[in-house]
Amino acid sequence: MEMMDKYARLLIKTGVNIQQGQTLVLSCPIECSDFAHRVQKQAYQAGAREVVIRWGDEKSARITYDLAPSEIFDEFPAWSKTFYDDYAAKGAAFLTILATDPDMMKGVDPSRISRQAKARGTALEAYRSAQMSNKHTWCVASVPTRAWAQKVFPGMAEPLAVEALWQAILTAVRVDQHDPVDAWHRHQEALDVRVKFLNDARFAALRYRNAIGTDLTVKLPDNHIWFGGGDECAKGYVFMANLPTEEVFTAPQCRGANGRLVSSMPLNHNGNLIEDFWFSFKDGVVVDYGARQGLSTLKELLATDEGARMLGEVALVPHDSPISNQGIPFYNTLFDENASCHFALGKAYPTCVQGGTDMDKEQLAAAGVNDSLIHVDFMVGSADLAITGIQKDGSELPVFIDGNFVIR
Ligand code: ZN
Ligand code: ZN
Repeated sequence: MEMMDKYARLLIKTGVNIQQGQTLVLSCPIECSDFAHRVQKQAYQAGAREVVIRWGDEKSARITYDLAPSEIFDEFPAWSKTFYDDYAAKGAAFLTILATDPDMMKGVDPSRISRQAKARGTALEAYRSAQMSNKHTWCVASVPTRAWAQKVFPGMAEPLAVEALWQAILTAVRVDQHDPVDAWHRHQEALDVRVKFLNDARFAALRYRNAIGTDLTVKLPDNHIWFGGGDECAKGYVFMANLPTEEVFTAPQCRGANGRLVSSMPLNHNGNLIEDFWFSFKDGVVVDYGARQGLSTLKELLATDEGARMLGEVALVPHDSPISNQGIPFYNTLFDENASCHFALGKAYPTCVQGGTDMDKEQLAAAGVNDSLIHVDFMVGSADLAITGIQKDGSELPVFIDGNFVIR
């Protein structure tokens, strides 16, 4: 089987794990239509009832940002909200191919982008909440686009850059291995060991320190749960929300972060790069911040709502992992977050506290689970990162030394 079909099959089988008679909603850039068609075939062969494709077009989005009247950025069409709500209610699986030019929105008025993101987030709040509680299955993956490949491999001619990015992606998702599905089983076992260690340790807090200036203590909720790799959906079968995935993650106590957190990789946020940025936290809230590049984008992001200034995810990724070992900044969060320890600003996964998926907003807030219209991951991992687990009685246990897990 050709590599790309092998990859398409992995997304259908291991990613969304499509079920007999289930509908697949596939979101994909128009530039990647060839790959979308391969996915479509694999989905039908695996028993899908229908494959519904939503084509994305970032060039058209750029023209809209540049030329449309201002008021449209506060709107989100009702038909589009109905689309997501309806297919989610019907139990569809949602597969998103994420591939953007990291410089596509350079120079666009950042308030237009953030207002539109907010309008979309508000309209799709119920859909996203259901997704983050695993009420329906979903998967985010990537394939190269020309502009993205040239950003990652600037010295290469375009076709070579695209080829190189394909290779990097196929390595990251283990499709270059003899039996990718089996490779993912073995990887899952390795993630399970880390998850068990962290769930057994029941740390009250984690302290992060490295030489670029991070010194942060973040509390964890009493009944927090760590996850990694596959997630179980409401119907009881396992899917993989991100491909690749190298992280184990949980929710932080959203009022419990104190200290300074320094980014270790650029962040591509809605087509703008934010670089060399940092946050100061007091009792969970960002009280000061800065960035060498993209400060206005960062400012807009933090201003989204109250929860946007608090943490919603703590994720541990060894510095020695198949993605970071490639030594490539992907400028695509799906890859960069799986090459590096990261946090997210914004909404936390309700699954990460005991009973969280059955809690209402007030109960989640009382449990310390952050809520926001945004969930934006950013990278903080480095080769010298040390993480110490602090237990309820104050005793300490090393979790990371020199960028890697103490347990293997
Ligand atoms: Zn993550
Ligand atoms: Zn995340």
